[in-house]
Amino acid sequence: MKKGTVRGCQLSVCGWKERRVEWRKWGRVNRQPEQIRETFLEFRILQKGEGSGGRLGEIDTPHGKIRTPVFMPVGTQGSVKAVSPDELRQTGAEIILANTYHLYLRPGHKLIERLGGLHRFMGWDGPILTDSGGFQVYSLAKLRNISEQGVVFQSHLDGSKHFIGPEEAMDIQQSLGSDIVMAFDECVSYPAEYEYVQRSVDLTSRWAERCLAHMAGGKQALFGIVQGGVYPDLREKSAHDLVRLGLDGYALGGLAVGEDRETRLHIIRETVKMLPDDKPVYLMGVGAPEDLVESVPLGVDMFDCVMPTRNARNGTLFTTHGRMTIKNAQYSDDERPVDDQCDCYTCTHFSRAYLRHLFLARELLAYRLNTIHNLRYHARLMAGLREALKDGRMDEFKEAFYKAQEGNIEERGD
Ligand SMILES: [Zn+2]
Repeated sequence: MKKGTVRGCQLSVCGWKERRVEWRKWGRVNRQPEQIRETFLEFRILQKGEGSGGRLGEIDTPHGKIRTPVFMPVGTQGSVKAVSPDELRQTGAEIILANTYHLYLRPGHKLIERLGGLHRFMGWDGPILTDSGGFQVYSLAKLRNISEQGVVFQSHLDGSKHFIGPEEAMDIQQSLGSDIVMAFDECVSYPAEYEYVQRSVDLTSRWAERCLAHMAGGKQALFGIVQGGVYPDLREKSAHDLVRLGLDGYALGGLAVGEDRETRLHIIRETVKMLPDDKPVYLMGVGAPEDLVESVPLGVDMFDCVMPTRNARNGTLFTTHGRMTIKNAQYSDDERPVDDQCDCYTCTHFSRAYLRHLFLARELLAYRLNTIHNLRYHARLMAGLREALKDGRMDEFKEAFYKAQEGNIEERGD
């Protein structure tokens, strides 16, 4: 397909060859799924990391191939803030995430469906993963009322009352036409009592079953979300419940919500072991460079986070040498690029001094240039991690990553 054109693909008519998912022997758990689904998603592991673990792979979707491990920029409202789809491509992004909750409220999923689906609507012809709306219902909406059926909530935009349950979450994501759909889950805040999390895990499992039943015959890939807070036995219960459904991939939810990094990595390490070896593992909402570097060797294949784009708009740039606050006075007449290792449009054309000026003057270009750089940083970091997996030198990669950040760039004043 010609670069920059829009296929306007709707899954039912896109002509992608239908294939039956063949279940191979479970690698990490000795359990057979109860049912077999047909989807367009195919995950291949190309190479397993030596020693420290992790895997190099690729995912085929109706809108193209994704190389894993991958970072997914977040396009909350059908737009990755401040950049065009072309610019997004040029940063190396291969798949983006869009938010079901936001698009449902505005402009409405039915309108997007009438206009050819989200790919066509936003002019992005690559793969799209949509979240279930669950996280935003709990974090943004007001007056939530959770029942077995689903969640009644008030829109954060105009206070209007809405209901989303597992079936509604699937219907909305079908209308959007995303390549990967997330099951509807309950996101528990942190910290939470054991008993509450236990009830919540059971509810999330029952909801996942309803999502799967409602998607029967659908061709979008369906991922389940393992919850369970920081309680290992509840994570295990959640993983067990979801794996027996035979979903297309498994996400780890409810992390990076306030727990410390050591706890987070422990939960990731232990949970990944409970998931089937031949399905993608997606760590939701985690995107700090250190978390990516630590989680890839644990077997995580997919990440998303608003961090690179949100930080860019706040003037915090990620560099090989650590984080940079571009408004700081030390950059006022600094002619060097943000990151001398970076090949992005921003770093190859503009100085720190110019970017500082734009940011302080609140010029719109500041948000665009900063976002291009941060997204490129994340894409390059993932490419580096994939190379390290391929060459079996993950430990060296990690060592070099931390060494380059020793004494943060700003503290060194260089
Ligand atoms: Zn750059």
